[in-house]
Amino acid sequence: MDFNYSPEDEAFRKELRTWLDANKQFAPKPRDIMFDERDDDFKDRVRWHKKLHEGGWVAINWPRQYGGRGLSVLQRLVYGEEMNRAGVGEPYLGMGISLLGPTLIHWGNEEQKQRYLPKILSGDEFWCQGYSEPNAGSDLAGLQTRAVEDGDYFVVNGQKVWTSGAQHADMCFLLTRTDPEAPKHKGISYLLVDMHSPGVTVRPLVQITGAKGFNEVFFEDVRVPKKNLVGRKNQGWQVAMTTLMFERSGSGGGGAGPGEIGQLANLAKRLPRNGGTAWDDSSVRQKIAEFHSESQALRYTRYRQLTRQLKGMPPGPEGSMLKLCSTELALKIALYAMELLGTYSQLEYGAQFAIDRGRWSYRMLAARGPTIFAGTNQIQHNIIGERVLGLPKG
Ligand SMILES: Cc1cc2nc3c(=O)[nH]c(=O)nc-3n(C[C@H](O)[C@H](O)[C@H](O)COP(=O)(O)OP(=O)(O)OC[C@H]3O[C@@H](n4cnc5c(N)ncnc54)[C@H](O)[C@@H]3O)c2cc1C
Repeated sequence: MDFNYSPEDEAFRKELRTWLDANKQFAPKPRDIMFDERDDDFKDRVRWHKKLHEGGWVAINWPRQYGGRGLSVLQRLVYGEEMNRAGVGEPYLGMGISLLGPTLIHWGNEEQKQRYLPKILSGDEFWCQGYSEPNAGSDLAGLQTRAVEDGDYFVVNGQKVWTSGAQHADMCFLLTRTDPEAPKHKGISYLLVDMHSPGVTVRPLVQITGAKGFNEVFFEDVRVPKKNLVGRKNQGWQVAMTTLMFERSGSGGGGAGPGEIGQLANLAKRLPRNGGTAWDDSSVRQKIAEFHSESQALRYTRYRQLTRQLKGMPPGPEGSMLKLCSTELALKIALYAMELLGTYSQLEYGAQFAIDRGRWSYRMLAARGPTIFAGTNQIQHNIIGERVLGLPKG
């Protein structure tokens, strides 16, 4: 593993840093895990996305021919480091940039690429992911939403759930069953659905944090043009897996970085305890040091993953390990903050007298989400057990 960056990577860093120094005042506050989805938050994010787009700083991993920057793996790392350093969030505008765009680049026909990619880049169309259903989550291939052919259209009926951002979405990439007789992985098709079509109903779900980040979505006789089929009919599982691969490879989201541990230390230094502060207690310092060590171990695991990529090797077990350990670390940190806060931990987000505006209790509630999405942590345990440790299937 070589920890040095090349002169080209450093030049790239300088270019980005200069741009960020000049423009970071336009950025909204970095997105917390399971951010509050108020309309204002959304508008702020659209504004920041458009600013980044003007500068050519969105979709950095897309090929240049589709409007991306075609950055190398290391430059993507530099990009994340510089965004962190500037204290701004990486642009997040639904699942267009991270999931649908790369999937369409791989599977879409030219007409679909020309129609959809530019509007994802410019932030003019916002996408949501219609995968999970009330009876199909971990067992995604059990999905029941039906699409039946009718002339130049598919007619869609069914229900999705936990659809993040559907309340803002213009479009949805939707998994539907097009052959109910075929084995379950073989009768699925991948459709691009206009969320403004007649027959689409979005019902927000209020989470334990009070935020309305995701939704139930109902489809009742929704007509979807056949030209919106990605890949071939009944072959949608392969397309869906490509999207999931992009989701999992980027699912460091929700993990705890050094910034979070720094803030926990900072909290301990402010909380009165036994005539001093919590930080004076060596057991508190030791616990925070433990979190720091775990986060460093994850950092080097991420580098190992990167090294494999740079050497052109297939993805290893690091992805599952990172997803599992980083989301659990984030949860442990939030729970420990509750212990430190004592009775103050009961004050909710935004309450009067809540320390740090109640962000710690918000995080404690929100930190469960990342242990569930992009493959639950129990499923990651299964993958590590079976594919890494070679244990027999349960
Ligand atoms: C914050 C958040 C955002 C989300 N956004 C979206 C979105 O935008 N679009 C979308 O389609 N979905 C979204 N989801 C849904 C997510 O993909 C599902 O919640 C996830 O796949 C789990 O499915 P489930 O909730 O149906 O739970 P289930 O699959 O029913 O699992 C229930 C429990 O059983 C365990 N379990 C299930 N199977 C096994 C097994 N084989 N071995 C061991 N344990 C098992 C699970 O780990 C879990 O603890 C989101 C979820 C969250 C939390």
